[in-house]
Amino acid sequence: MNVFSHPEFDDHEHLSFFSDPETGLRAIVAIHNTNRGPALGGCRMFPYATDEEALRDVLRLSRGMTYKSALANLDLGGGKSVIIGNPHEHKTEALMETMGRCLEQLGGHYIAAEDSGTSVPDLQVMGRHTGHVAGVQSRPGFDGETSNGDPSPVTAYGAFVGIQAAVKHQLGSDSLEGLTVAVQGVGNVGFRLARHLRDAGARLWVHDIHQANMDRAVDELGATAVDGDEILYLPVDVLAPCAMGAVLNDQSIDGLHARIVAGAANNQLARPEHDAMLHERGVLYAPDFVINAGGIIDVFHERKGSEPAEVRRHVESIGETLTEIFARSARDGLPTGTIANQLAEERFRNTVR
Ligand code: NAD
Repeated sequence: MNVFSHPEFDDHEHLSFFSDPETGLRAIVAIHNTNRGPALGGCRMFPYATDEEALRDVLRLSRGMTYKSALANLDLGGGKSVIIGNPHEHKTEALMETMGRCLEQLGGHYIAAEDSGTSVPDLQVMGRHTGHVAGVQSRPGFDGETSNGDPSPVTAYGAFVGIQAAVKHQLGSDSLEGLTVAVQGVGNVGFRLARHLRDAGARLWVHDIHQANMDRAVDELGATAVDGDEILYLPVDVLAPCAMGAVLNDQSIDGLHARIVAGAANNQLARPEHDAMLHERGVLYAPDFVINAGGIIDVFHERKGSEPAEVRRHVESIGETLTEIFARSARDGLPTGTIANQLAEERFRNTVR
């Protein structure tokens, strides 16, 4: 298995491989770049079929966090960790405690947060042996509600602010009154985003594979339910993907009628070149790693002990960053994802603490 010559290596600063036969822990921590601050990123637990698969995932995700934090203007670098194992079968308290001890060895250069396969209680168990875990405290949230570490409310608000910025740029409007929006996936983030949009006067179409979630959006928000992938092709102003990744692909991009794609789902582009395809078709795409950064902004402020109003202001800056990306994209004739990457690189490559 190659490391330094791995295609995803991208000059990572540091990699740690942890193994503990007693608890069965096998974990990799990747720190991509710490120019802006300690590397913060999720700790994922997944039954990777091979070590190579785990390495590839951690390198790719860790690099992504450097870009995400830089674009969110956070004094944080990018990192990620993966625990190899099935969270439903191999997760034990002892394993999580051992992971906490491993993180402690890294001296705070990497800070772990929850991710798929791990939960806030898991991070709290790790936190018995290290202070380098985040998103674990109950505290007043940015919206006045108590935050228990669930990033969904703040992510949804960031996505809402992002849609406002996209509408201003693409449609020249300061108001969302009468705007038509299709939301794919009305789970934790999508439902809350839809509620913000409804409160701002938008008209909603929704699809969710869980009937109960779709019914809730219809009953509580007056949304119109749509069947299956039809949600992607409606003649609406905005398509907001809030379900799974790779939703923007060769097939779907061809059939889009929305003028804006702006939603919280991770990894919306099936392949990097889909960024250019959207640009060529005149669809304004809000890069997912910019618009869905509310959660990491919140976690950063949890560690800093910031007041809720400061968190709210920071989340609202997602709109300003997107506005800058859209303006540069229009000026330079380049896709928004390409511009977002350039802007991130300017921010983390030129910063030395
Ligand atoms: P969730 O599981 O609560 O909601 C996802 C919803 O999408 C569910 O209701 C599910 O039934 C539905 N869904 C799944 N496949 C679908 C499909 N093919 N068509 C329609 N609906 C489908 O998850 P979430 O926390 O709301 O996250 C949503 C997306 O946002 C994910 O891609 C996640 O990675 C991303 N994200 C979430 C956060 C956060 O704070 N929770 C932060 C950043 C990014």
